Amino acid sequence: MYALIDVHKRYGLRTVALRKLNLEIRHREFFVLYGPAGAGKSTILNLIAGLTKPTSGDISRDGVSIAHLPPERRGAAMAFENYALYSHLSVAENLAFPLRAAGLDRSEIESRVKRIASVLGIPHVLDRRPGFLSGGQRQRVALGRAIIRPADIYLLDEPIGHLDAKLRHRMRAELKALAVEMNATVVFTTTSSKEALALGDRVGILNSGRLEQVGTPAELYNSPANTFVASFVGDPPMSFLSVTARRSSDGVKLYNGDGQAIASAPFDVLGRTALKAGLRSNAIQLVDAQTSGALKGSVQVVEHLGHSNIAVIAAGGDSIQVSLPADRRLKPGEPVGMIIDPRQIHLFADERALVGEHV
Ligand code: ADP
Ligand code: MG
Repeated sequence: MYALIDVHKRYGLRTVALRKLNLEIRHREFFVLYGPAGAGKSTILNLIAGLTKPTSGDISRDGVSIAHLPPERRGAAMAFENYALYSHLSVAENLAFPLRAAGLDRSEIESRVKRIASVLGIPHVLDRRPGFLSGGQRQRVALGRAIIRPADIYLLDEPIGHLDAKLRHRMRAELKALAVEMNATVVFTTTSSKEALALGDRVGILNSGRLEQVGTPAELYNSPANTFVASFVGDPPMSFLSVTARRSSDGVKLYNGDGQAIASAPFDVLGRTALKAGLRSNAIQLVDAQTSGALKGSVQVVEHLGHSNIAVIAAGGDSIQVSLPADRRLKPGEPVGMIIDPRQIHLFADERALVGEHV
């Protein structure tokens, strides 16, 4: 197990890349670090690999500090976002290079090169030099060079970020299968939330040098710790309504910006300010605008996704995304009603999730 303990990382005087970060990577897990550009993903990989040092804090492996060890003694293999290949060597020789350096025999090298080339979908270019490859092919060779040799941990920094959507989809499935087959410990970074959820045994969500939450995809989906995580996990993303909690003749209710009651409060939130109600599209039932007790709104846009459609409904200054069956027709401007299941409301105050006993 690799761990970052209270790691603070500054570049120069001004740039704080990581803030008191604590993170554990378990043996044999496929761990995905998700975050926008500049969040600190590459910095974390570089720290584990030993390519850069923490400003403060420690890095350990199975409980023993490795912060003082040089890169070659960290047991890490890394694939960079910006890759470099030997231009005078063929693809096969580029792939074989780390194995030769490790002293493997010829037949073993040959069979590994073949296996990796097939996983990466590049067996037909093994004899070419890098100058005769497309950008996507070069990226796959670079990735192959990182994963071809045995390592205690594989650090893959946006390794398929430059590939087109279809190839990316195929590659991520094969990478995951290969990692399982190799019993490998992998840290994989991405700026795609879909990719993170598809690949990660666990996912760490990084935002401006802070880990917002770490969990399995299901944990992140069911119990997001804050609105940043909530809006990242799920498709369509969670909608947020600004609400206030007030007592009514009928118990405590949540009211939107129009003063319309959206639902009963799922638990006691009287007196809380800066409240937001987070709704997944399946927590909302679309009904006729005249239905009593329904939250009234009007259709802004309908996005057609093929298998289903998403309607964006305006109500009380908020935009709410609702999934529709493919055969449900709605026109922009059309008035609609929404029934919201209070048990499926996620409540946030000051962007942090509130937890309470659902009544
Ligand atoms: P990510 O990989 O998530 O895009 P990085 O870890 O590369 O994020 O960068 C985190 C922050 O640190 C950014 O603000 C970036 O500009 C800064 N940074 C990264 N590397 C350096 C460096 N070598 N020198 C100065 N600032 C850096
Ligand atoms: Mg990066």
